[in-house]
This record gives sequence, C-alpha cells and structure tokens, in this order.
Amino acid sequence: MPACGPRSVLFDVITIFPEFFTSILEHGVLKRGRAGEQIEIRIHDLREATDDRHHTVDDRPFGGGPGMVFKPEPVFRAVERLKEAAPNEPCRVVLLTPQGRLLTQAVAEELSREKRLVLICGRYEGVDERVAEHLATDEISIGDYVLAGGELGAAVLMETVTRLIPGVLGNDSSAGQDSFAAFDNLGASETQGILDCPHYTRPADLRGWKVPEVLLSGNHEEIRRWRRRQALEKTWRKRPDLLECASLSEEDREMLEEIRHAAPEPQL
Ligand code: SAM
Repeated sequence: MPACGPRSVLFDVITIFPEFFTSILEHGVLKRGRAGEQIEIRIHDLREATDDRHHTVDDRPFGGGPGMVFKPEPVFRAVERLKEAAPNEPCRVVLLTPQGRLLTQAVAEELSREKRLVLICGRYEGVDERVAEHLATDEISIGDYVLAGGELGAAVLMETVTRLIPGVLGNDSSAGQDSFAAFDNLGASETQGILDCPHYTRPADLRGWKVPEVLLSGNHEEIRRWRRRQALEKTWRKRPDLLECASLSEEDREMLEEIRHAAPEPQL
C-alpha cells in the first residue's frame, strides 16, 4: 500500500501490454501523483498469471464466431494474487469494457475516494463473461465506442481519478472549477455540474479578436459574475441536459432567465 497522505489510491493494472504504460506514468498528473505519493501504480503482466509453457491468455469462443476471448483463469488468478497480498484492504475490481457504466466526472469522484482499484484491460473480442459476473465489482466504459483494448481506458480512468485526489494539482487546484465538477476537495465545487467558463491569456488582442474587456478590468466581482454567466450560457447552448441536474443558486437562475430571453433556443 502507498505510504501516503490522508487520501491516496493504489492502482493495480492487469494487461498483456505492460510497456504500454511506460510513457504515461512518466508524464503530467500521473507522474506528479506518484512523486507526491498520492497514488501508486503497479502494472501487472497477465501472462505471468498463466500456467502453461506458452503463457496463453486467450482461446476461441464457444459457439464459434470470429476472434479470440481472454481466458478466465489467468484473470481470476492475477486478481486473487493481488488481493491475497493485502486481504484486509477494501478493493474495487474494475473491468474496462464498452458495456460498462460510463466514466463520468461523478464516477471519477466516487472512485477517487477508494483505497485500491484493480483495473482489468481486455483485448480481442473481450473477456470471458464469468469475469464480469463473478470477479469484477464494476464494469466501466470510457465512452460509447469500441477500442481495441482496455489500456487506453485504464489510462483515462487513472488520470481522471488522480487529478481529483487532494494535493495532486497543488493548493490552487482548479479541479473544482472544471466542467462537470460536482465536488472538489473541500465539498461542493464552484461549477456544480455545469461547463467551465471560457479562459483567455495573452495577447489581449489576437488578429483583432479581443479578450473580453471585463477580464482586464481588475474588478473581481464583475469578473466572477461574467464567468458564471458565461459558464451558464455555454452549458445552456452546448449541454442543456446538464442544467437539469446542476445545483443552481438564485443568482444562477436569474442569469439563466436573462440568457434565455436574450438568445434563441440552442440548436443541437
Ligand atoms: N466485443 C466487445 C464488445 O463489443 O462489447 C468489444 C471488445 S474490445 C475490441 C476489446 C477490449 O477493449 C475490451 O475487452 C475492453 O477491455 C476494451 N474496450 C473497448 N472499448 C472500450 C470502452 N469504450 N471503454 C472501456 N474499455 C473498452
């Protein structure tokens, strides 16, 4: 287990391509989280949990059909070995699959409170169904499309979860202001489930496209109101579905009313 601060997550990734993760672990948030001991990532080669000379992880599907399927025994063995090493630690066993629960910011927030996540990366036609039925505690999809393997899904999940762990992004963490954020390290987030406001940096004038005047004014209250209004308007235009679940203040509702009156309905 990582010897870390009050909140930390150990990721155990089970894959047939361990080297896939070499570069990912050495960059950005995952590198930072590991250096700060907010996370630990251990990569496990599924072939080491096989019991034949050829380290076979796949076999033909019963009933015929194209492709190969991950055999269940190596996957069970790999996960059970990991659990045996720390039998009293709570542990979620996540199967990456396009058929799983969608990885949203809310799901990432939920997972960021776990101590240990074992991530199973499938390949080929997928993993013997008994893994989903009797071993995995969760099936998670990173989107309604089909990848060739679960490694990218595991990487996306780890990065999304890691940046929500207190301390990883530093003290001036922006995670609570990000799109979709419902909670940040301290409780309710600033965005509360809507999209983030637009951001600008220098130059103030790019080919005649000027940064909104208010952002140069130094008036913090005006800037706060402008940003909130922009975030609400963007959400209303691009993702009106989010407004149904967002927790909105009285001020938000008034701004939304103004936005609705000032503009035609969003065209999706
Ligand atoms: N036959 C499966 C199906 O249609 O549901 C797809 C298998 S896919 C080619 C091989 C592996 O990639 C899966 O076992 C899973 O681990 C991973 N994978 C593919 N798409 C994914 C997604 N959207 N989210 C998470 N993992 C995915």
